[in-house]
Amino acid sequence: MTRHTASSHYDVAVIGAGIVGLATALAAARRGARVVVIDRDAQANGASVRNFGFITVTGQERGAMWRRARRSRDVWMEVAAAAGIEVVHQGLWMTARRPESVAVLEAFMSTEMAQGCRLLDAAEARRRCPEVAGGELLAVLESTVELRVESREAIPRLAAWLERAHGVQFLRQTAALAVEPPGVRTSRGPVRADRIAVCPGDDFTALYPGRLALPGLTRCKLQMLRLASPGFRLPAALMSDLGLGRYLGYAALPAAAPLKARLAAEQGEHLRHGIHLIVVQSADGSLVVGDSHHYAPTPDPFSREDVDALILDEFRAALGCEPPAVLERWSGTYASAPDRAVLLDEPQPGVQIAIVTCGAGASTGFALGEEVVEKLFAAEVAA
Ligand SMILES: Cc1cc2nc3c(=O)[nH]c(=O)nc-3n(C[C@H](O)[C@H](O)[C@H](O)COP(=O)(O)OP(=O)(O)OC[C@H]3O[C@@H](n4cnc5c(N)ncnc54)[C@H](O)[C@@H]3O)c2cc1C
Repeated sequence: MTRHTASSHYDVAVIGAGIVGLATALAAARRGARVVVIDRDAQANGASVRNFGFITVTGQERGAMWRRARRSRDVWMEVAAAAGIEVVHQGLWMTARRPESVAVLEAFMSTEMAQGCRLLDAAEARRRCPEVAGGELLAVLESTVELRVESREAIPRLAAWLERAHGVQFLRQTAALAVEPPGVRTSRGPVRADRIAVCPGDDFTALYPGRLALPGLTRCKLQMLRLASPGFRLPAALMSDLGLGRYLGYAALPAAAPLKARLAAEQGEHLRHGIHLIVVQSADGSLVVGDSHHYAPTPDPFSREDVDALILDEFRAALGCEPPAVLERWSGTYASAPDRAVLLDEPQPGVQIAIVTCGAGASTGFALGEEVVEKLFAAEVAA
């Protein structure tokens, strides 16, 4: 396709070059559409490059989110191979150090969500990876379906591949000011497109502020750490008991009630800061570790040392070893809503708004993009 000019006309304009926008662009391009992606930043800088790059299936909320995650995981595998994105490691070890946690894992294993999962006892886990099976480990739920990518590399590669292989045009450092079908008014002039997908992440005020003024829709800030290589390879992404109390695929099971009560009694300070543990590894051996959850319409930009200390405290308890030195600290924000995992809205014919409101966009974005494009092309639009 020729480069964008003032007279270019697209089938689909996507606002937002985070994972949800890129996934939507991919789904539209796979339908043969001429696609343009508009983003105000020079390169991806939001949640999509600040996350763990952990494509999580096991533990996602039962039903639509779990199905979206399974589909997205498969698309990630296709795209990673085509776009030169390294899958840094695969699988999940959900570690349990309390009998109440083991009960949750056993209940989970009897659900349809246990596909690709099995329970390891402590002896088998120690045999497989003595370095991470120290401490008070009682059992591990091993899942083989998860993937981990290095988001800060994967997202630019995904965008470059969309441009190269699918002819998707990118208008960067361009703010979308208003959606005016058939097109978008931007800081660089009008962009003409028959259908428009609005994928703004946690920006609720630039476009459709009235539609996005929903009760409880807010932003969540997370603190993240990169630790030096521990000198061994993780068998998979690691999580701990706190994740069993938070991720709805486990936490919504009736068997989780005793665990949640015990966590409230024993780890109240962790829960107050929304802390649960994810540990993933990078190609150079370093570990990305988090996270915390603080909610506000405009979260403050300050990383708190006491919050990082609590995250590292959970690392110590779950792995039974001292955390390596901290190399990097950052925070990120994502959209959050109390009553839905995903916000899909059609504010005008031929326009779809798509926002993941539960912090699982890396895991579910590709499936969501397909749904958005399905809806966009289901509607008649005035071209
Ligand atoms: C620290 C952290 C860890 C996380 N870990 C995971 C994880 O391991 N697994 C997982 O599944 N999820 C994880 N998440 C959640 C996941 O990262 C998000 O759900 C996902 O990235 C959201 O993608 P997005 O495309 O909607 O938003 P974003 O990545 O925020 O992208 C939105 C884009 O829209 C652009 N934009 C907005 N409005 C306009 C406008 N008017 N004009 C032009 N451009 C505009 C912005 O510039 C931005 O580039 C994590 C999130 C954070 C913050």
